[in-house]
Amino acid sequence: MPFVHSYRDQLPGSYTRLAPTPLAEPQLVVLNRPLLAELGLPGDESDWTVWGSGNGLPAGADPLAQVYAGHQFGGWVPRLGDGRGLLLGEWQGPAGRHDLHLKGAGQTPYSRFGDGRAVLRSTIREFLASEALHALGCPTSRALTLVSSSEPVRRETFEPGAALIRVAESHIRFGHFEYFSHGGDHRQLRQLLDYCIGHHFPEVAGLPAGEREAQFFRRVCERTGELLGWWQAYGFAHGVMNTDNMSILGITFDFGPYAFLDGYEPGFICNHSDSGGRYAFHRQPTIALWNLQCLGLALAPLLPEAAIRDGLTAFEPALLSCYRRLMQARLGLPAWTDESGPLLSALLGLLAAEQADYSLSFSRLTQLTDGADARWCDEFVDRAAARQWLQRYRQQFTAAEWQARQVTMMAANPERVLRNYLAEIAIRRAYEGDFSEVRQLFAALTQPFTVHQEWAAYSEPPPDWGRHLEISCSS
Ligand code: AMP
Ligand code: MG
Repeated sequence: MPFVHSYRDQLPGSYTRLAPTPLAEPQLVVLNRPLLAELGLPGDESDWTVWGSGNGLPAGADPLAQVYAGHQFGGWVPRLGDGRGLLLGEWQGPAGRHDLHLKGAGQTPYSRFGDGRAVLRSTIREFLASEALHALGCPTSRALTLVSSSEPVRRETFEPGAALIRVAESHIRFGHFEYFSHGGDHRQLRQLLDYCIGHHFPEVAGLPAGEREAQFFRRVCERTGELLGWWQAYGFAHGVMNTDNMSILGITFDFGPYAFLDGYEPGFICNHSDSGGRYAFHRQPTIALWNLQCLGLALAPLLPEAAIRDGLTAFEPALLSCYRRLMQARLGLPAWTDESGPLLSALLGLLAAEQADYSLSFSRLTQLTDGADARWCDEFVDRAAARQWLQRYRQQFTAAEWQARQVTMMAANPERVLRNYLAEIAIRRAYEGDFSEVRQLFAALTQPFTVHQEWAAYSEPPPDWGRHLEISCSS
């Protein structure tokens, strides 16, 4: 099998090699066949049951746990690392090189007090969210396999242990740089930087020394800005934006107590242990910039201050241009003009005042047909404000543009997002031994823009019990 091991071979001192601890009585819950095909991976269901539970390794794999550090909720933690996941190897296939990372693979030297395991609940949530985000077009890690087991894992109660194979072009986090920089090992820091540029930022590799490093940092800031544009446009709250959960590639990474917004609440906090709201939805852009500043500081031994400052200035324009592009499509606007920002703000103000459903509001706007304005306004308590907004909105279009609007909007406004209550239903069924709902949701969320009668219920806003579910951050 074409596994390569560039991380192992080129970054000595950045990991510990070790084998996974097998999970007992593994049962394959989902195998992501489209991803398997995309990556050109071999193996049938029984192979992936074995490989996806650490009961065996695909030929050519050589597992290792990576070391990194991080700022968790603003506090510095000098040594973290893969406490329960292992990089099995880098798969070189038709889609390029991808890390296969087994999460829930048992204890490692970086486990601290943890058991090295993941529970079924959190692996279902990570599997579904990463594939749902990918289907929307948002940069993210992917999920290849989800395997459950009979092994009890202790959290608040005993729960079934499970494992997930995560796929990403790299698992390098901001925290990798912080580990070597603040640990004082600047030779390793240089090695890591050169590795990242060589493998993941080929567009800057050919620049003269100095410029190359500066442009690398600038690109990370841009990519992170674009990622935040996606999150804010699609109402995705990550929940744990610690620097050890921030990917150097600007992809969504490490899914904890995340949420897709139901009602539009800008200050929504999805992690109930985040009492101060550090990672509230509307603070995500600020926090991402704070995290980039941490990365910039970690690069300070190799980069002049001016280059770090310059790189950071790339974040906001990248975020805004991505956000505007996505919101222009979500509103179906023919162009982004001076009028568009205030128009969008007015809509968001209307939604926030009534905590109207974020996703459904855009679907309803997409489906708005001529003569149905009154019905659209009926969804709001303040019908006069809604009517006023709708008039302003209509003024943005010529008659021909108004007709063309729906096509753009249907490709930008999902019929279904992974609402927490939908994940919760699938998890409850899975804990009764029935995985059919997990599989249904996987199918439905990976085709988010198509209308399917059998999945109509997935578009519904949450029932009362499903609002503000407290998602445990234990995982
Ligand atoms: P997370 O909150 O999942 O981003 O994890 C933060 C850190 O704790 C990482 O270094 C993880 O590897 C580690 N960790 C989380 N859960 C466990 C566990 N059950 N056993 C060992 N390490 C863990
Ligand atoms: Mg993490």
